[in-house]
Amino acid sequence: MSTIAAETVLEVRHWTERLFSFTATRDPSFRFRSGQFTMIGLQVGEKPLLRAYSMACAPHEDQLEFFSIKVPDGPLTSRLQALKPGDPILVGRRPTGTLLLDNLIPGRHLYMLATGTGLAPFVSLIKDPETYERFEAVVLVHGCRTVAELAYGEAVVAAVRGHDVLGEMCAGKLLHYPTVTREPFRNQGRVSDLLASGTIAADLGLPALNKETDRAMLCGSAQMIADLGVILEARGFVEGAGARPATYVVEKAFAER
Ligand code: FAD
Repeated sequence: MSTIAAETVLEVRHWTERLFSFTATRDPSFRFRSGQFTMIGLQVGEKPLLRAYSMACAPHEDQLEFFSIKVPDGPLTSRLQALKPGDPILVGRRPTGTLLLDNLIPGRHLYMLATGTGLAPFVSLIKDPETYERFEAVVLVHGCRTVAELAYGEAVVAAVRGHDVLGEMCAGKLLHYPTVTREPFRNQGRVSDLLASGTIAADLGLPALNKETDRAMLCGSAQMIADLGVILEARGFVEGAGARPATYVVEKAFAER
């Protein structure tokens, strides 16, 4: 079997000039775990042009979903943003990644800390019933520059809350904390500053960050991950990975070139 499947784009939604999401058909044999990423892309001439993308959908869903940046002159996204329903899309069959529930030791509160398209793996996790079975509170923090950039996250959270089965499971547990850095909004500031100052926990009525009860997953720029890593480790959190579950895990939302 080829390591890359040819799927078909079903629906495309543009959220801002920089962000869009799309759904695609899913080969039933393609299995992944919530929070993982795979290589996706387009056939360009003779060669596939592939980039890492987190699945913004749950393992139980029939369709695939992705949440994407539009990088001006980006080799893949300058083409990907023109996708239309019916277009072909390549999807790698080898998902991987560290943002897995199994990579965290048990705790009470799960903090999912995202900036920009770093939201994508957490879309998968907030659609997974297991997340609510393992944690009493599931805190989705999404930092963007502008209010418009929060729209996809707002729509996904509303859909989860309104879902027949998930709605009941996440009731009172799924706490959404969107924040922006460049405009007035009810929550303002960088995710790292808001976590360090205790603002997020206080605003949500949760106890102060504590390594005994809290677990964290991070997905954003290298700088965001470095800043949050310092804050968490100063409080005694330890980074986990596949063979070594611990109190927090990280994934870069993109590689800087
Ligand atoms: P590239 O040549 O790949 O990137 C050019 C430059 O654009 C980069 O150097 C970087 O500075 C900037 N950039 C790239 N991606 C982003 C981004 N997402 N946000 C902000 N700046 C960026 N991208 C997504 O849009 N959605 C995802 O779910 C996603 N998941 C990823 C998971 C992993 C583990 C990694 C490593 C990357 C992921 N990316 C994701 C980034 C993605 O792989 C590509 O970089 C992106 O699609 C741009 O591709 P490109 O060929 O147009 O430009």
